[in-house]
Amino acid sequence: MPIDPTLPYDDSNIFAKILRREIPCNAVYEDEHALAFHDIAPQAPVHILVIPKKAYVSWDDFSANGSAEEIAGFVRAVGHVAREQGLVVRGYRLLANVGRNGGQEVPHLHVHLFGGGPLGPMLT
Ligand code: ADP
Repeated sequence: MPIDPTLPYDDSNIFAKILRREIPCNAVYEDEHALAFHDIAPQAPVHILVIPKKAYVSWDDFSANGSAEEIAGFVRAVGHVAREQGLVVRGYRLLANVGRNGGQEVPHLHVHLFGGGPLGPMLT
C-alpha cells in the first residue's frame, strides 16, 4: 500500500529496522550518511537500494529538510555505489518513488539503483 509522505516519520518501517540491525540486509556499502543493500525482490540484474542513515520519509522530506552535508554525503554515496558495482561504463538508472502516485511503499527515503543489463522503459 503506497504511503502518505506528508505523515511524520514512523520508525517502525522496515528500513528503520534494517538501520537498527533488527532485521538483516545484504549490504554492499555503508558510510556515515548512507547504507546500500540489495533489494529483496530485484527487478534488474543489479538492484540496490541506497538509504540515508537519518530519518527521512521521502525524497521530498530529505530535499526540504536534510542538511547540505547530509544531502551531499548521500548523493556521493549513491554515485560511489554505482561505480563500485561497475555500472558506469554501460550505465544505470536511479529512481525514487514518492508517495501515492509514485507508488512509494516504504516510508523511509530510498533510491533504487538499477543496472547490470539493458533496462526496460519502467521499473518498479
Ligand atoms: P515499490 O515496492 O512499489 O517499488 P518502493 O519504492 O517503496 O515501492 O520500494 C520498496 C522496495 O523495497 C521494493 O523494491 C522492495 O522489494 C524492497 N524491499 C522491501 N523489503 C525489503 C527488505 N527487507 N530488504 C530489501 N529490500 C526490501
